[in-house]
Amino acid sequence: MAPGLASSVALVLAAFLGCLCLVALSEDDLLENLRFVRRAQDAPLVSHYNYIVIGGGTAGCPLAATLSEHSRVLLLERGGLPYRNMSNQQHFTDALADTSLASPAQRFISEDGVVNARARVLGGGSCLNAGFYTRASTQYVQAAGWDARLVNSSYRWVERALVFRPDVPPWQAALRDALLEAGVTPDNGFTFDHVPGTKIGGTIFDNNGERHTAADFLRHARPGGLTVLLYATVSRILFRQQEGVPYPVAYGVVFTDPLGVQHRVYLRDGAKDEVILSAGTLGSPQLLMLSGVGPQTHLEAHGIQVLVDQPMVGQGVADNPMNSVFIPSPVPVGLSLVQVVGITKSGSFIEGVSGSEFGIPVSEGARRLARNFGMFSPQTGQLGTLPPRQRTPEALQRAAEAMRRLDRRAFRGGFILEKILGPVSSGHIELRSVDPRANPAVTFNYFQDKEDLDRCVHGIETIEKVIQSRAFANFTYANASVESIFSDSANFPVNLLPRHVNDSRTPQQYCKDTVMTIWHYHGGCQVGAVVDDDYRVFGVQRLRVIDSSTFKYSPGTNPQATVMMLGRILHEVASHLCHIISNELLPVLFPKLPYPPHAF
Ligand SMILES: Cc1cc2nc3c(=O)[nH]c(=O)nc-3n(C[C@H](O)[C@H](O)[C@H](O)COP(=O)(O)OP(=O)(O)OC[C@H]3O[C@@H](n4cnc5c(N)ncnc54)[C@H](O)[C@@H]3O)c2cc1C
Repeated sequence: MAPGLASSVALVLAAFLGCLCLVALSEDDLLENLRFVRRAQDAPLVSHYNYIVIGGGTAGCPLAATLSEHSRVLLLERGGLPYRNMSNQQHFTDALADTSLASPAQRFISEDGVVNARARVLGGGSCLNAGFYTRASTQYVQAAGWDARLVNSSYRWVERALVFRPDVPPWQAALRDALLEAGVTPDNGFTFDHVPGTKIGGTIFDNNGERHTAADFLRHARPGGLTVLLYATVSRILFRQQEGVPYPVAYGVVFTDPLGVQHRVYLRDGAKDEVILSAGTLGSPQLLMLSGVGPQTHLEAHGIQVLVDQPMVGQGVADNPMNSVFIPSPVPVGLSLVQVVGITKSGSFIEGVSGSEFGIPVSEGARRLARNFGMFSPQTGQLGTLPPRQRTPEALQRAAEAMRRLDRRAFRGGFILEKILGPVSSGHIELRSVDPRANPAVTFNYFQDKEDLDRCVHGIETIEKVIQSRAFANFTYANASVESIFSDSANFPVNLLPRHVNDSRTPQQYCKDTVMTIWHYHGGCQVGAVVDDDYRVFGVQRLRVIDSSTFKYSPGTNPQATVMMLGRILHEVASHLCHIISNELLPVLFPKLPYPPHAF
């Protein structure tokens, strides 16, 4: 590379990196420095690329960066840039509490009655999440049929780009020691590996508490190889019949910009060029169905022309239930998101988040401005206690006022939470409408399978031991019994499920009544059901799905490491060869195909 070019590339990259960190800049300022990122309304009405990646999320960003090394890639993201609300860990709950149309988090409530959120921003879920970074187990990697060597090098690529070793504050250190005392052994120290025992894992928050997101991967893209369009909502994948090919072939996509203008992007003629769906667990099955690939009767009920009757699209969707307990602390507690995990042999994973007034605006000014009090807010609670017609903004405001008047020491402490392995229980996704911006209907069927409930009960029993441990004594009131702590948390209405007040103290009922999400939902385009081992969609060509929707079970204790790794691994080796074959060799050997012969 010429020295002049090299330095301007370095400048662009430095500007990009810097920009992602500078929260004070407006989106206009940021975009001016990001040459390869544009708003959808500034894009041409028709364009051509080797790869079209739908969804600039946790998998989509590393994937697009990797593919751009040897090809021309377009990354289409329906949200905006990751900045403001998401940059510091103190703001963890802000985005989740923002229910506006501009929010980077799109709230949805599953048919089970659990409040949930999906990303709507460049960087996807990595812009909203609690930051904990931990790999999948070696057994998971084997079962997935992945090449362990490639998996490890891809994880390392991810870790070099955005993973940090956390500074562990006293509350998290006490949780670690308490888990060891409770028998979740051995002490595995600091490691990314998924091994039974207690460990400190990685984090995508740096030591100043600033979040690094999957959008950071884009700085590894080849300049000139990547175009990113923001606010580009894909409504449909285009398919055509091709002579000699028994299946419909994907050849492009349609997206709508914020002004309502439709744009079309087509694949170039390279034999290996592809559309890749990375729109997440809700978005990928939804877009397949909107494009005519899905269960025939369901699609027909929505007036969608059926291209391939694929009954498994949207099936096998699961969300690992999270149950938490709030432990009031007699001493002030610093803010921390997940840093420590206890991996029990029975398949429950114990983690914790802490902070005096966790999720509650601290200063008076911030309180006045606050839209609500965060994840465990009275507004969330209100949804559970009030019949839907009474959930008015005024009622929410009154609840928020009541919360403001409470003694702030009431919120001093932390949440110990558990997630279960798997889960075994699963549900499905169905379209509510043909609007790609609307949430589909999602059913997770929490605890339908007894194995899940048994795991949860074991996790609750482990948390009880943690609360009673010597190691955790500084962070619990001496006169607070375990029963009273659980009973207080059981009365906190965190979901829309009916309560069983009298039974809430049995661990089984506690698990069912206080179920929340840990946002690790997955499935809907599972390997073996909707996509093959190479993540190609059955029944069509030139279309893959690469994101959390392909998982049967959630990997590791927390999935983002493996989602990012997946975005890297599948094309790491192949992309270079594909480029040479498809873009240089094939066009010379074969005459160009008529384009596009007939569209669906
Ligand atoms: C609040 C929260 C806390 C979490 N905590 C952790 C944690 O601590 N550790 C951990 O490992 N994991 C955590 N997770 C889970 C993890 O972040 C997700 O599993 C992961 O981000 C999923 O990645 P994905 O690529 O499948 O989807 P996403 O990252 O959601 O990406 C999908 C992208 O597609 C875009 N999209 C969807 N539809 C369209 C369309 N029609 N057109 C254009 N674009 C579209 C979306 O806007 C989004 O950006 C958490 C998640 C959340 C929400």
